[in-house]
Amino acid sequence: MKYLTILLFFIAIPAFGQFDNYFENHTLRMDYIHSGNSTQEFYAFKQFKKEKYWGGSHVNLLETFEYGKYFVKVFDEKSDTLIYSRGYGSLFHEWSTTEEAKKFNKAFEETVVVPFPKNKVIIKLYSRNKEMKFDEKFAIEFDPTKTAYYHKNDSEFPVVDIHVSGPSDKKVDMVILPEGYIHDELGKFIKDSHVLIDELFAYSPYDKYKSEFNVRAVWAPSEESGSDNPNKNIEVNTVLNTSFNTLYSDRYCMTLSYHKVRDIAANAPYDQIYILVNTDKYGGGAIYNYYSVSVSGNLKSPKVFIHEFGHAFAGLADEYAYEDSFENMYAKGIEPWEPNITTLVDFDHKWKDMVNPNTPIPTPATPEYKVAIGAFEGAGYQLKGVYRPKQDCLMRSFAGDEFCPVCKKAIKDMIKFYAE
Ligand SMILES: [Zn+2]
Repeated sequence: MKYLTILLFFIAIPAFGQFDNYFENHTLRMDYIHSGNSTQEFYAFKQFKKEKYWGGSHVNLLETFEYGKYFVKVFDEKSDTLIYSRGYGSLFHEWSTTEEAKKFNKAFEETVVVPFPKNKVIIKLYSRNKEMKFDEKFAIEFDPTKTAYYHKNDSEFPVVDIHVSGPSDKKVDMVILPEGYIHDELGKFIKDSHVLIDELFAYSPYDKYKSEFNVRAVWAPSEESGSDNPNKNIEVNTVLNTSFNTLYSDRYCMTLSYHKVRDIAANAPYDQIYILVNTDKYGGGAIYNYYSVSVSGNLKSPKVFIHEFGHAFAGLADEYAYEDSFENMYAKGIEPWEPNITTLVDFDHKWKDMVNPNTPIPTPATPEYKVAIGAFEGAGYQLKGVYRPKQDCLMRSFAGDEFCPVCKKAIKDMIKFYAE
């Protein structure tokens, strides 16, 4: 059934090599406000911007993974052809699953970026319903000859190359943004970036794909050091306004100032945004095609850095479980979209083909299956009903210090998607 849905969803596939027919090598960015509560959501347009660079592939214009809670699609208005699509997630979605969201509405900044169209297009935004199907929620026209848009970026900052291996359209482009590095700490920021990037490129499967990545750092200093920490009454004046205790989880360090994040990222071509927080407190966070955050000065920083990038880049779910599960995160009877967890509702379209036929499904977490690929119960924050591919993985804990084969494959597939 899911296969049929995928076919219908991607029915309009543009011919190979059509980037130049439809797009300029710049970004069209659409900022909007996503608001609502646990049962309702609303979209309000804010502004269009033309940005200097487009970091994405010129070949893979349609996302074939069907990852993410949300989706953006761009249609050529004249021919009604789908010419670009991408999945993504957001902090609004995570908040909407919390108890707080049952009590009041809240508004979050969101953005979609697409290649800059040459002709009139229709941009449509979709959100998954309870059955995981995409419902159209918002549509807007953009005509490059008529629609008003901003040309100028008010947040221009210098860019430092950390690792550049080729043209942006054929590489995974990561842009690193500094948070809580004060004016005389450029040297520290660049050193911290190199340390963490070196760890990433030493870690499987990234170790074999260093030449498929570009990494650039934007030097946007802060007035004060570190990040907000509400549990210790610490509030600092920083460029990206990050804070620990996001959604009341002490180690969850995110920012609500998403449009500012996009302004600063736009100084370089990028596919992925990485925010590096200048603190030794343990923490971070990441959401698929949204941004990643890692602290820079904690002993566990390199593992946090790699783990979080798994969420934002390859759409990987957390494979750990809590005693007090988020009940709303993964509904019973519904297959989640993330490649590395399953409810066994549609295991055929997950990693079933990687499992030895002699391994039982579900798989008992016994020493016999310590290194086996199977379906082990306890993942996606839930002890029951959600299964992971291996007993341990970097998406579950730092103990085994390795991605499971299913996560490795998802990362490799995504690298290929960007680098073709
Ligand atoms: Zn895994």
